[in-house]
Amino acid sequence: MRRRLLLAAPALLTLAAEAPPIPTVASFSLLTDMLRRIGAGRITVTTLVPVDGDAHGYQPRPADARAVSGAQLVAVNGLGLDHWMDRLIQSSGFKGTVAVATAAVTPRSMAGGTATDPHAWQDPRNGILYARALAAALVAADPSGATGYRAAAEAYVADIQQTDAWIEAQYTAIPAGSRRVITTHDAFGYYGARYGIEFLAAQGLSTEAEPSAKAIAALVAQIRREKVRAVFLENMTNPRLAQMLARETGAVLGGTVYSDALSGPKGPAATYLDMLRHNTGLFAASMRG
Ligand SMILES: [Zn+2]
Repeated sequence: MRRRLLLAAPALLTLAAEAPPIPTVASFSLLTDMLRRIGAGRITVTTLVPVDGDAHGYQPRPADARAVSGAQLVAVNGLGLDHWMDRLIQSSGFKGTVAVATAAVTPRSMAGGTATDPHAWQDPRNGILYARALAAALVAADPSGATGYRAAAEAYVADIQQTDAWIEAQYTAIPAGSRRVITTHDAFGYYGARYGIEFLAAQGLSTEAEPSAKAIAALVAQIRREKVRAVFLENMTNPRLAQMLARETGAVLGGTVYSDALSGPKGPAATYLDMLRHNTGLFAASMRG
């Protein structure tokens, strides 16, 4: 009898350890990285828009609807970036927790208040709000993991704060007049507001609309007039526009920055924090000339 009881205890422990992970879905790769950091080993994450992919005009596939319907938690950015998720969530019959990462963010409005900038993650202080929103949603979806989720989120928040301070330090020696950067689409407004950098973009807040010839001509004139040194390619947009701007103005191509998607695991922006550091290194180098 005694021997039996001794055997039963390890068997129970094994059962608890093998509780199936919580299936979650992230609309795009930045949220995948954040969910993995905060998930404390208790979740699996399916990413809909892949690394280096464009979340703006994404067309969901049948496999995406299946992933959403089988998930217990779905994470979206909100502010219009992944607007296609609304219909996907509705049509898949999803009944779980929807985590809106930007729920506590103060949005930047653009174009005289007619457009909302969805790229809030580019300001690390918003990244902290994302982490806390995702942690709260994980706690709601899986209350028995609450302690682990909260501890992982706070450790992550400390890392984000450290990265924010590092970024600020990279720009302290750069005069305000040199803090100008050209990108393809207007994805760095929050970053620019945080660190005092003016970002000029050929395309608007979304990649869904092509820039007009008039807008490009005006940008070319501005780059020449303000002597902006570098034009950056983005990992998830067509490189043609940036190449053309560099050719027309004599600006150099400053490299590829990561705006709306992470890189693959071996790339320079495999995580949210790597992305912030990689972009900052390229931007700051171009300003130092
Ligand atoms: Zn974008």
